[in-house]
Amino acid sequence: MSDIRDDVVAGFEETFGRASEGVWSAPGRVNLIGEHTDYNLGFVLPFAINRRTVVALGLRDDGVLRVASEFADEVAEISIAELAPERLHGWSAYPLGVAWALGQFGADLAGVPGADLYIASTVPVGAGLSSSAAIESAVAVALNDVWQLGFDRQTLARVGQLAENKAVGAPTGIMDQSASLLGREDHAVFLDCRSLESSLVPLGFAEAGLELLIIDTGVSHSHATGGYAARRASCEQGARILEVDSLRDLTVDDLPRARNLLDDETFRRVRHVVTENQRVLDTVIALRESGPLAIGELLDASHISMRDDFEISVPELDLAVETAQANGAIGARMTGGGFGGAAIALVPSEGISRIQVAVDGAFAEHGFAQPTMFTVTAASGAARD
Ligand code: ADP
Ligand code: MG
Repeated sequence: MSDIRDDVVAGFEETFGRASEGVWSAPGRVNLIGEHTDYNLGFVLPFAINRRTVVALGLRDDGVLRVASEFADEVAEISIAELAPERLHGWSAYPLGVAWALGQFGADLAGVPGADLYIASTVPVGAGLSSSAAIESAVAVALNDVWQLGFDRQTLARVGQLAENKAVGAPTGIMDQSASLLGREDHAVFLDCRSLESSLVPLGFAEAGLELLIIDTGVSHSHATGGYAARRASCEQGARILEVDSLRDLTVDDLPRARNLLDDETFRRVRHVVTENQRVLDTVIALRESGPLAIGELLDASHISMRDDFEISVPELDLAVETAQANGAIGARMTGGGFGGAAIALVPSEGISRIQVAVDGAFAEHGFAQPTMFTVTAASGAARD
């Protein structure tokens, strides 16, 4: 962490020719359980990870915003008065979109000074660990501080979501920003996506001798847009036929009726969401009452539900999960929206290298590209450093 903080301070000076005034950071996140439940207004259980996006900032007196990133060539520039979603493009739509969204939530953008921002990150981009929420949340806390806006964390999460929905154009839920802003070391964020109420749940991985291994298959989920939209449409159709506002209003007791009323495919989509919500609730209880060794079967069941009922897994994810399970993982599942991306495996610390070797071997045997594997821990949310 100290390296990357030094990087942004140096990058800021090199890019803008002066010293920065402060450094803020926000983490990426991994979703422990609760997939495709957010837009059905159900439950999710992500945690902030020990990979962060860091922003160095210096104020300007001319009402101009300039943003630079370690991984981009150009410096993007716009005057605050001209901020509008249709004027924002490329990677800078994330940070500049946040500035615009703060105005949408009531910040008086006519009265705030301009700023230069320099951004660097250790969150891998596109691996399903939400580098997008990390950059949004880091910029949101930075501007909230220096512009003295006084927004709370829940509001800043909605600011980040609005930026991503309207300035970037990605129809994502509130989970990622909530984890990045509300996370705490060694805790998961239990979020009710209808009320937006959240609470922290102790993970206790280290005490139980466990670690969370990310297995990034490298399979791009960029082609997933159609699949994601189709799943959302199925959920909406199921809710309409079953005459509920959202699938959140159903429990496992409603499934026999759902089976009678829905076609087989829609029924399986609904069953995934309903049982996944229950698994999130069960995971929270298990963590609170028994600790992380008790959640393995729930993670495994979540994967089977996504593979068979929601049909969003791919062979690489199934292989990663099955190989981890066969080689000592407590539990494993694909994580994220599906059609690619990463799997997670909860593994005994001393068994990590065995699982990594086994997964590498299995991928080679199947002719799949080598996956990237690393462990993550639950870290604190966005903050001034
Ligand atoms: P992820 O799963 O990592 O969130 P997304 O496609 O949602 O993937 O977001 C990745 C995009 O966010 C990048 O393509 C880039 O536009 C932007 N982004 C993320 N981190 C940074 C960064 N450090 N600097 C500049 N842009 C970033
Ligand atoms: Mg993202």
